[in-house]
Amino acid sequence: MIRLDRINKHFGAHHVLKDVSLTVDKAEVVCVIGPSGSGKSTMLRCINNMEEIGSGTITIDGQPVYRYEKDGKLVIDSEKQVEAIRAKVGMVFQSFNLFPHLTVTENITVAPIHVLGRSRGEATDIALGLLEKVGLAMKAQAYPHELSGGQQQRVAIARALAMRPKAILFDEVTSALDPELVGEVLRVMRALADEGMTMVVVTHEMGFARDVSDRVVFMADGKIVESGKPHELFSAPQKERTRDFLRSVL
Ligand code: ATP
Ligand code: MG
Repeated sequence: MIRLDRINKHFGAHHVLKDVSLTVDKAEVVCVIGPSGSGKSTMLRCINNMEEIGSGTITIDGQPVYRYEKDGKLVIDSEKQVEAIRAKVGMVFQSFNLFPHLTVTENITVAPIHVLGRSRGEATDIALGLLEKVGLAMKAQAYPHELSGGQQQRVAIARALAMRPKAILFDEVTSALDPELVGEVLRVMRALADEGMTMVVVTHEMGFARDVSDRVVFMADGKIVESGKPHELFSAPQKERTRDFLRSVL
């Protein structure tokens, strides 16, 4: 479903992704852990085409996100194709980024109407169904500032789902929440995983990584240091760097 093949990314002289390769199969849940600055968010942003890569290839659902000319020059595909990729791969951020002046329902319907060309009625029906699913049917007409952080984040997840994505990327979506609100968001994510959604989850929630993911990827200093089944990686990490990190967070 998602395939990264030896991607490299620099910010100026800073080499932030170093030959990163990763394959995420359909219905697989991959958690990405690692210290601050290791390149986790940058990797997600590259997958979603919010950042350009310097070299390597990214394929989403069989389609290359980037292509190369004969001379090896990287060419970014047209805006339309970029939009199509973003529509296939949803993303949810730490800061929920809801539109403050739109109701919860309008937040969810805006992209389906303007990007997918759905009618308002159809988009609203889908939005209400998704709000039901994330336990917020009663907040359909509320504005973001009237919601708790956990509720706003669940709306952000519903908004991503409204695009009927093939995969969703989650970037530390519980990090900004008060501890008592973390569980309600993780429950929604766990339900999605159970339904077979393809997910890449950057998280500090080691319990979630251990219980829900099919695979855990440990990144440090722009590289994938180690990856494996959660029980393997957490109980028998192979690399010293992984052991150090796990000692510091567990
Ligand atoms: P965190 O756990 O703190 O979110 P991360 O693993 O997500 O960290 P990234 O945000 O991907 O790390 O950043 C990787 C490196 O790239 C960091 O050194 C960061 O300072 C640098 N970086 C990220 N975005 C930019 C940017 N737009 N311009 C310049 N440098 C950047
Ligand atoms: Mg980050």
